[in-house]
Amino acid sequence: MEKIAVVGAGLVGSLQAILLAQKGYQVSVFERRPDLRKATLVGGKSINLALSDRGWKALEIAGIAEDIRKIAIPMYNRCMHALDGTLTYQPYGVNNEAIYSVSRGGLNQKLMNLADNYPNIEYFFDRKCLDVNLKSNTLSFLNDQTNQKEEVQVDRIFATDGAYSAVRMRMQKSMTFDYSQKYLDHGYKELVIPANADGSHKLDKNCLHIWPRGEFMMIALANLDGSFTCTLFFPMEGETSFETLKSRQQVAAFFDLTFPDAVEMMPTLLEDYFENPTSSLIMVRCEPWNYQDKIVLLGDAAHAIVPFYGQGMNCGFEDCTVFNEMYDESKGDWNGLLNRFSDQRVPDANAILDLALDNYVEMRDKTADPEFLLQKKIEGKFSRLHPEKWTPLYSQVTFSNTRYSDALKNGRKQDALMQQILKLENIHEKWDEPFVMDKMLELIS
Ligand code: FAD
Repeated sequence: MEKIAVVGAGLVGSLQAILLAQKGYQVSVFERRPDLRKATLVGGKSINLALSDRGWKALEIAGIAEDIRKIAIPMYNRCMHALDGTLTYQPYGVNNEAIYSVSRGGLNQKLMNLADNYPNIEYFFDRKCLDVNLKSNTLSFLNDQTNQKEEVQVDRIFATDGAYSAVRMRMQKSMTFDYSQKYLDHGYKELVIPANADGSHKLDKNCLHIWPRGEFMMIALANLDGSFTCTLFFPMEGETSFETLKSRQQVAAFFDLTFPDAVEMMPTLLEDYFENPTSSLIMVRCEPWNYQDKIVLLGDAAHAIVPFYGQGMNCGFEDCTVFNEMYDESKGDWNGLLNRFSDQRVPDANAILDLALDNYVEMRDKTADPEFLLQKKIEGKFSRLHPEKWTPLYSQVTFSNTRYSDALKNGRKQDALMQQILKLENIHEKWDEPFVMDKMLELIS
């Protein structure tokens, strides 16, 4: 049987290892870090993620969705925190759908534990991939335990080593390979709202909390232990930025003024702010994702996107689904498979990158905008009346398996139509009247 290497034991690598093991392959997973399950959590790295339909589909295919449900908290609404403390709730779906808060570390550990059930998966920790010889399919690693270099030759390589992929780096240098990267001018920092003394949550745990503040925002997602992980998305440089908030006084004054209702619940704000790292957000597009029938990039290694649609991991898990389906269709014949996979996925990854960028503006700015809220109400009503004619873009991305590239096209069309509706006279007062729905129908047809 062929030997397969998975480089990177993150979320996508661990899931893909399970799927490959289920096909009977001997899978070796090489991970730069020590075993996550034995290491202590480093402060500021307790990210939690929103898991949604595309992610669940891949987990179901692997037969492990029920295991993951046990560590996931459903979030049915966005809860917007205005400056004066007013809360506004917006359902995520039109049919009570939810996205799910999961701890990245917790999910990663669970996937590794599930992978341990397969005798044909072997993990090698403390192995930093340095390079790959494309001709001989030989990976070189630095073994952090022995400080020695090691070489491993395999039949195929799945590179899931994240946004700064070492395997991708070699492909960039050695073949016809298009690559671009861009940093967002905003970065992020993690903060915490601890649990109440009795272990309960201080905010509604079934919401994704957002403090939209125009140029920037803070969000909070619930953890199982009663705490919330907050993420401040904020300019890296400029007048109000990570660069200018330097002293404890400046940070305290800024939070008091900008997030007054949250500050009351953040007793360790200043320690967290200065101890936790400020991280940047990189976007990566590249093509093709494969080298012949031997090497393929999946997950962030192929498509690092900004986190504002909550789709980075979901898209990576969808890579696994699509690969799995194409593999099954080809009945295990690898000939041309990775080419076809790359051709299919690249446009979808590029589309979700564009959608995620658009959504940053929506989350930090438009969620507090009356015009945007009106648009959501009209769209919600129309899609409830005519579900076959209108699925909101958010639902197409989050609660369906529609190709991202199709969702992007549909969303652009919907937006153009909605702009015409918003121009109707007195639309703010009359949005609920039947003629608005009639006009939507007319425009759609
Ligand atoms: P990674 O998780 O980066 O894993 C890569 C693995 O490879 C790591 O274990 C790393 O140690 C290892 N590695 C790296 N280099 C080497 C090497 N040279 N040799 C060996 N091993 C190596 N996504 C969502 O779907 N929903 C969300 O709500 C969401 N929120 C996010 C919030 C923030 C603030 C950020 C930054 C991201 C968010 N994402 C979200 C994106 C999500 O975290 C990533 O898309 C996901 O972690 C990608 O998984 P991966 O396995 O491809 O890469």
